[in-house]
Amino acid sequence: MTAPQRLQVALGERSYDIVIGTTVMAEAGTLMRPVLKSQRVVVITDSNVAGLHLARLQRALDDAGLSHDSIVVPPGDGSKSLDQLGRLIGQLLDRKVERSTTLVALGGGVIGDLAGFAAAVTLRGLDFVQVPTSLLAQVDSSVGGKTGINAPQGKNLIGAFHQPRLVLADTSILTTLPRREMLAGYAEVVKYGLIRDPGFFHWLEAHGADLVQGERAELQHAVLESCRAKAAEVAADERERGQRALLNLGHTFGHALEAEPGYGDKLLHGEAVAVGMVMAFDLSVQRGHCPPEDADRVRRHLAAVGLPTGFADLAPRHWDVERLIVHMGRDMKVSGGRITFVLVRGIGDAYLDATVEADELRALLTGALNDADQLARENDSAGLTSRAILGS
Ligand code: NAD
Repeated sequence: MTAPQRLQVALGERSYDIVIGTTVMAEAGTLMRPVLKSQRVVVITDSNVAGLHLARLQRALDDAGLSHDSIVVPPGDGSKSLDQLGRLIGQLLDRKVERSTTLVALGGGVIGDLAGFAAAVTLRGLDFVQVPTSLLAQVDSSVGGKTGINAPQGKNLIGAFHQPRLVLADTSILTTLPRREMLAGYAEVVKYGLIRDPGFFHWLEAHGADLVQGERAELQHAVLESCRAKAAEVAADERERGQRALLNLGHTFGHALEAEPGYGDKLLHGEAVAVGMVMAFDLSVQRGHCPPEDADRVRRHLAAVGLPTGFADLAPRHWDVERLIVHMGRDMKVSGGRITFVLVRGIGDAYLDATVEADELRALLTGALNDADQLARENDSAGLTSRAILGS
């Protein structure tokens, strides 16, 4: 058992706590009580998490004398849709939620984003509490108040900033998380080291393998450090007018990979971010801003824990450089027609750069695809199986 630790996201009167530990779920009702406007909550979760953890949360709510009901939505990014949002809001209104009702998002990033957005718009704004159950949600999406759904035109294009009242991260809940999901969340943990904290990246090089195996002490430390980093960026720049955008390291590339038709759930967000972070390092090397050894170190570490690092690790498909560039242009980090990239001077030293030209992206992506083809040919001629591990 690990004693719960508390951090604060400092946003004036909208400040809130993040509680991290292994007994947080059992105490969820008691922990929530002080931030509730009434004794009524509605839990929103997905069917995977409901089967595994909803009963435990319901017991904790009963123990604290809270009245509650639950809404279960299908798992997966497909639920971040206008259709699902409409159904969810309808279910909330049918249950006669009031302004004082608090929604509880029990699940991964999909549930946090969907339930948080439903909270932002139902009755012009309900309070909500995040109970993140995936590693990605515990280290990233549950903190910071970005909520929303996907549009046919791209990921997360419909949404609102709506801060939760509390985040309850029980790291023991991660024992039921499938390994692939654990790895995908780990990509976001690595991101914090790469942006500003070379010491944390060094720690991850030593402990990352244990962490993704579910070692409690390592998980607790990584969730705490990640939330500390995220809370600091959010407190400094809640609406992403400047430095918070550093948290998007790897995301412009990653979203382009995710946006390719037919990928859907086959390429997880964290996997796309892992490849995207390597591309951001490679672009920085190509521009002469980052030592190639740092890019190699990042690639080596991500590969060592089992994350994809390039096209060769994704199922063979016809990747189209021009289409990928178009997807990047649809990203939210576009201003005046220019994409703001998160680039690096090295591990732990990220910065924003809006001067990248399309030709530089062409050169980078074409080079990466050629490398992947070359590797596939070498493997074929050596009779080896493809390195492709994902999306098959
Ligand atoms: P997810 O919510 O789909 O969860 C991944 C899978 O794991 C799902 O099948 C889910 O049912 C299952 N799951 C969750 N917790 C589990 C547990 N404890 N045991 C067993 N299974 C469990 O995906 P995710 O990776 O958590 O989040 C990805 C989403 O988060 C994306 O939509 C992304 O856009 C969003 N995101 C948002 C922010 C933000 O700031 N709002 C930041 C990063 C990512």
